[in-house]
Amino acid sequence: MNRREFLGTFAAAAVLPAFVREDTNEWGAPVFDLHFHLRPQPAANLAHLDGAGIAKANLLTRGRALDQVKALQAAAPGRFTWFSSYDVTQPDAEQVLTQTVKSGAQGFGEMKFHVAADGPELRRMYALAADLQVPILIHFQEVDHSPNEGTWSTGFAKAFAAVLKEYPRTTFIGHADAFWANVSADYHNEAVYPAGPVKRGGVTDRWLGDYANLFGDMSAVSGSNAMARDPGFTADFLKLHQDKLLFGSDCSCRDGHGAGYNNPAAPRMAGKCVARETLGVLKRSTSPVIFQKIAWGNVHRVLRIPA
Ligand SMILES: [Zn+2]
Ligand SMILES: [Zn+2]
Repeated sequence: MNRREFLGTFAAAAVLPAFVREDTNEWGAPVFDLHFHLRPQPAANLAHLDGAGIAKANLLTRGRALDQVKALQAAAPGRFTWFSSYDVTQPDAEQVLTQTVKSGAQGFGEMKFHVAADGPELRRMYALAADLQVPILIHFQEVDHSPNEGTWSTGFAKAFAAVLKEYPRTTFIGHADAFWANVSADYHNEAVYPAGPVKRGGVTDRWLGDYANLFGDMSAVSGSNAMARDPGFTADFLKLHQDKLLFGSDCSCRDGHGAGYNNPAAPRMAGKCVARETLGVLKRSTSPVIFQKIAWGNVHRVLRIPA
């Protein structure tokens, strides 16, 4: 081994911590968190990943975040990818988001704005995501969690099949309340997190099967709740859509064990880590092979990065 080869080995070893975890990981497979909001302090980001047994995460950012992302990537090589978002109602949205992709962002998200899911503001973003060959992650919500919170990317159940057809080159990643409540055919925007048995044939379930360009981000209480409400449904759903589902946490707890977590719309989750709750239900509900796809394999394909 010459000096250059030795240094090459050393450089590879520097990124090893993310992969050493594969053997010792408490979940039995390495975990990638698609939906992790960038925290201002670098150490706070790592505290959640390490606490929850997560090897890698995709940082969701809004506005100017490049310096913070680069600093974190330098502090923990190989553990972070990132998405960018920007107010889609602003005239320079396309220009700003294009620049972030040129700077290394792997996708758009999360897109969470008070506009219609099939309105002109988001349509521009769907077209741009296709042109730049990056996925777009969208927050769909029709019911307020608190008075006057407002709704986000509205009209999912009624309007989104047409969007999926119209933008076949765009990779859509669905997320949040309306996306997950609509796994059940009897949902009509009456609850934030519906409980009880799922009525088969909900639009989210059907569209994941019908449209190659739609993926599901399992993060937040919405994703966790959808998988926890009806074990028979969950087992079938995970098997059927095993190549279309991506684990994510959207958890705001401090330590990856639930410290400080409080969601007024879901009192049962107080003091719990959403990442742990969702990984737990996934592990109980499916085979190790499918778990590994959802927790690790699929996201690498969708983000076009090596596993
Ligand atoms: Zn969201
Ligand atoms: Zn957590």
